[in-house]
Amino acid sequence: MNDDQLLRYSRHILLPQIGIEGQQRLLAARALVIGAGGLGSPVALYLASAGVGNLTLCDDEAVDLTNLQRQIVHRTASVGRKKVESARATLAEINPEVRVAALAERLDGKRLEALAADADVVIDGSDNFATRHAANRACVKLKKPPVSGAAVRFDGQVAVFDLRAPDSPCYACLFPESGESEDVRCAVMGVFAPLTGIVGSIQAAEALKILAGAGETLSGRLLLLDTLAMQVRTIKLARDPACPVCRA
Ligand SMILES: [Zn+2]
Repeated sequence: MNDDQLLRYSRHILLPQIGIEGQQRLLAARALVIGAGGLGSPVALYLASAGVGNLTLCDDEAVDLTNLQRQIVHRTASVGRKKVESARATLAEINPEVRVAALAERLDGKRLEALAADADVVIDGSDNFATRHAANRACVKLKKPPVSGAAVRFDGQVAVFDLRAPDSPCYACLFPESGESEDVRCAVMGVFAPLTGIVGSIQAAEALKILAGAGETLSGRLLLLDTLAMQVRTIKLARDPACPVCRA
């Protein structure tokens, strides 16, 4: 690290759980961020500010006026621009050292797998079950740790599936692909602005810990957040031995 980097990351370096070594791991790390919306915004902002060296952002949508209430990586002037381009511009202002690949595409299974193969961590900030299940399948196959998040109305959830561990549950153990799960979209249900910030920030924290090798992650637990009552609880997750996705 050069002198500027030692200053920029000094408050991380001061933390014994991160230190120089952990920060160097972050600088060398590659993160795949799926979605540049409500969750992807704080995820991308914190991963970039914290110096994660290589970020791949994927989102095929353009910035809409209705996004700006919560998607804090975008600016009013970016309405109509592709979200990944808008996000890349903001991230470059915060930390020009971070290499950001901006992919304006909706990822199908094959493409997702190829991108996940190059990543040390996969952060799922998508808003639909098809993408979440595709990300889960890719991570199970490649044994990558996905950090999953969801936010709707006043309710959020975060989970980490550290599929590097043999007994880890996967996303499909919790929400089967054949299940009745219906996409609940913010466009229909509404979403509390800071909820996406809180959930995305927790996802960023978990991703940074995985990359730096610090602390314990939410692996095997589901964090449930109710911002209306401001209550947080975590429940233990068990692997479903009959899960068709992660069954050996
Ligand atoms: Zn499973």
